[in-house]
Amino acid sequence: MKITIIGTGYVGLVTGACLAELGNDVFCLDVDQRKIDLLNNGGIPIHEPGLEEVVARNRAAGRLQFSTDVAASVAHGQLQFIAVGTPPDEDGSADLQYVLAAARNIGRHMDGYKVIVDKSTVPVGTADRVAAAVREELRNRGADTEFAVVSNPEFLKEGAAVEDFMRPDRIVIGHDDSPAGQRARDLMKLLYAPFNRNHERVYWMDVRSAEFTKYAANAMLATRISFMNELANLADQVGADIEAVRHGIGSDPRIGHSFLYAGAGYGGSCFPKDVQALERTARQYDQELLILRAVEAVNDRQKQVLGRKVVQRFGDDLTGMTFAVWGLAFKPNTDDMREAPSRVLLKELIERGARVAVYDPVAMEEARRVLALDLSEAQLARIDFKKLPMEALDGAEALVIVTEWKAFRSPDFEQIKARLKHPVIIDGRNLFEPPLMTGLGIEYHGIGRSVLTGK
Ligand code: NAD
Repeated sequence: MKITIIGTGYVGLVTGACLAELGNDVFCLDVDQRKIDLLNNGGIPIHEPGLEEVVARNRAAGRLQFSTDVAASVAHGQLQFIAVGTPPDEDGSADLQYVLAAARNIGRHMDGYKVIVDKSTVPVGTADRVAAAVREELRNRGADTEFAVVSNPEFLKEGAAVEDFMRPDRIVIGHDDSPAGQRARDLMKLLYAPFNRNHERVYWMDVRSAEFTKYAANAMLATRISFMNELANLADQVGADIEAVRHGIGSDPRIGHSFLYAGAGYGGSCFPKDVQALERTARQYDQELLILRAVEAVNDRQKQVLGRKVVQRFGDDLTGMTFAVWGLAFKPNTDDMREAPSRVLLKELIERGARVAVYDPVAMEEARRVLALDLSEAQLARIDFKKLPMEALDGAEALVIVTEWKAFRSPDFEQIKARLKHPVIIDGRNLFEPPLMTGLGIEYHGIGRSVLTGK
């Protein structure tokens, strides 16, 4: 099928590349000329396992093209996927300017039936606004072309995006029952048929329910994280081990083991903004989502947990001290630094007078870029970006782990002890077993595990 993807970011690029991999003819549009040039020169703007190979293979096969040409993009696909960003507006609601600009472009250039697929995460009711924008553009040029707007939210996870797209748990599609909507359903069914060979993965519903499903899913996941973080902080106080508790509750099939890890708070481009946007939607209907307000507040506090643990151990004034930090990306297998807990930690350590030596397997370049936004030049100069994890430890008071990269799971503990000034690990992801650390002579501070370390 001929498909256009509008927005070549995490979601758009992965969607375009994966749909091309299935044999479709895909046109990826972006307004960012540099991104398009990079892709046309064989580069990849993001780190995502497996993506480079899929993009290269499909470009070579002539099934995947990148361009900034709006008219050509509208002419190309009968299916027009909108996958542009929906960042938070000043009041926390989703900023729809990019989605609506994409919709208007379609209305301005289309000359035959199109299915407009909202893949961006958008508030309930956005499909109606997209349809209105398209209709207005059609009216402006006296055209009367049939189209449908469907909602097809994306559930891929950064760091496993290609795998998630190719093997989705579910595909949610919302459409209306008009003839144009029914026709859209048939085309979407054809597009997603390869995913349903083993069993049906598509959940068909009305448009508003599909839009809502995406927010409900992210809100639920964020809630589990904040819930566990709050319990972990209490576990530290009452002398319980949150890891034992996690196993104890996760074994109940009604609860399940997934997404129950206590840590340094959630970040990224989705949970923080989607929780806020759902709260904002509720307020527009004079409803207050009390649970989600708490989820957000708990998360804001949890991002400070590592800084708090450093202060508890080394004091308020960190002048003259250096700390090693492993992991900067908001989660492993990505270079995404949006809302990353590491940013809160680094700011706190530096404001308290410390120097920091940091290492991340892939996010160093992106970290330099975003930290320059968070910190002054003088503050930035107090961060040393190291090429190897062990190099960050030399002369540091302690090692603080923020992101659970696989490469950090089995480090050489003797080397860690030898390089640090004090054998102290403050672990924001509970990577190690406290008794093992004690046995190695390491002072270990996890999240919600004080009972095992006596801290
Ligand atoms: P992104 O910022 O990585 O990419 C968005 C791209 O859209 C940018 O390259 C931008 O230049 C381009 N763009 C903006 N306006 C455009 C226009 N009018 N025409 C063409 N291109 C335009 O964003 P992302 O992370 O891919 O997220 C996209 C949407 O998908 C968001 O709504 C997000 O909430 C949702 N989502 C993201 C993820 C994720 O893990 N990143 C997962 C599921 C859903």
